Amino acid sequence: MTKTAIVTGGTRGIGYAITARLKTDGLNVVALYGGNDEAAAACADKLGVDVFKCDVSDPDACAATIDEVQKKHGAVDVLVNNAGITRDSALHKMSREQWREVISTNLDSVFNMTQPILAGMRDRGFGRIINISSINGQKGQFGQTNYSAAKAGVIGFTRALAQETARKGITVNAIAPGYIETDMVAAMKPEAREAVIAQIPVGRLGQAEEIAHAVAFLADDLAGFITGAVLTANGGQYIAA
Ligand code: NDP
Repeated sequence: MTKTAIVTGGTRGIGYAITARLKTDGLNVVALYGGNDEAAAACADKLGVDVFKCDVSDPDACAATIDEVQKKHGAVDVLVNNAGITRDSALHKMSREQWREVISTNLDSVFNMTQPILAGMRDRGFGRIINISSINGQKGQFGQTNYSAAKAGVIGFTRALAQETARKGITVNAIAPGYIETDMVAAMKPEAREAVIAQIPVGRLGQAEEIAHAVAFLADDLAGFITGAVLTANGGQYIAA
């Protein structure tokens, strides 16, 4: 039977590549997005997937959207928590808003999306939950106390939930990408971008399709023995224990 996947932030950047790849792999994919209607319409048009506007930092919006998606598409088998933002600043200059926005969009969102979907996965005895963390959640990054804390939180969430769901046929894994060529990285100053590339042993930025490939691997039926893992995809920039 065709499996249904939800990809948050699935209409742009890495999320778009994930939506495209899972669709190519034969899944029925629903992409959620925050506010960029133009990108969402282009994604729906190009990939032939259903898109829903849903602020993942808002628990009520997530519950309502998941309800709507399940009414239209049936039970969700694969959840990819990918939506994320940065609001960089050294901590001594960081506003409460910069802290809160990043924590709620990158970390609270994982709770907001996963909890309403989990009950159905538990009932059916199958699920694949894939959370997009970051190299900067593993090693920390100057100017990103908010983002590094949120992305490290995603890893803790992944490892804890993997233990809670293992006997129910639900795997929970994280992917920690290094620097990937998307709008998020394009927003960096050219000097900063060159400095980053100089730190990557493979000598280039990653491609969104390479992260989508890791997601497809973890979403596969045969990945049922892999849970609680953090898969790094960073060109060798940070080789964690
Ligand atoms: P982009 O900025 O290119 O895309 C972000 C996506 O998230 C968009 O679809 C956006 O929707 C969505 N989004 C943002 N805020 C919300 C919200 N409140 N509610 C719903 N959707 C939202 O990001 P990337 O593709 O670069 O990043 C994707 C993920 O990968 C993020 O979690 C990021 O932290 C992580 N990552 C990225 C790296 C990189 O180098 N790019 C490195 C490591 C991790 P909309 O289009 O409507 O704005």
